[in-house]
Amino acid sequence: MSDSVLPDAQPAGGGLPERLSTVRSGIAAAAAAAGRDVSELTMIVVTKFQPVSLIEELAALGVRDFGESRHQEAQGKAQSLAGLDLTWHFVGQVQGKKARQVRAYSDVIHSVDRVSLVDALASEDSGIDCFVQVNLTEDPARGGVVPAELDALVERVLGTSGLRLLGLMAVAPMGIPPRRAFAQVRELGERTRRLAPGATSLSMGMSQDYAEAIAEGATHLRIGTAITGNRPVSG
Ligand SMILES: *Cc1c(COP(=O)(O)O)cnc(C)c1O
Repeated sequence: MSDSVLPDAQPAGGGLPERLSTVRSGIAAAAAAAGRDVSELTMIVVTKFQPVSLIEELAALGVRDFGESRHQEAQGKAQSLAGLDLTWHFVGQVQGKKARQVRAYSDVIHSVDRVSLVDALASEDSGIDCFVQVNLTEDPARGGVVPAELDALVERVLGTSGLRLLGLMAVAPMGIPPRRAFAQVRELGERTRRLAPGATSLSMGMSQDYAEAIAEGATHLRIGTAITGNRPVSG
């Protein structure tokens, strides 16, 4: 993706504070262009593969919302940073047998994508916020429910105790303009609101396409490398 000639991990534009402020400015500009108020937008910094120290640095710079996609890593980070009172967003695929553990340390789960997972997340405890993830590709191995099965899954979530549906989550597929993909999510979101009037949020937009997502009504942006720099190669 990058045509930078720098080795890696330090893209042009300096260190972490500079990258963070560049993205914050980009978000503000995209919101202004769309006639939207930035206060409607939650910026989640996705820190998968990144060390705990980087999360601490970001927290010191005022970031409160963090996204992780791998259960064991996420659990360890949430435990070691429990004192910071951060908000943890789980954005990766959730294995059924790990669902209760993911629920225990996450504040928001963005990747509810099948009936069996909804059932595994059911709880009499206080509700956890969640998004239903939609798969916009033809590849069933990608996370997300296909649009044809969305309504049924939404109804399952609504009928399950311990889950509060915020809205829909999606990743723009390769090969089509992101704006078109996000417009499709917006339309699916409107359809979902007929069943679930409170499900007004849209989790969409990453490092390369958050401006397009904001133009189509994103409320939760999941931004990794544009802020963190390149991810370390190993786990
Ligand atoms: C990694 C990841 C992101 C962030 O991607 P970047 O391209 O680094 O911004 C967002 N959403 C999900 C589901 C991810 O897995």
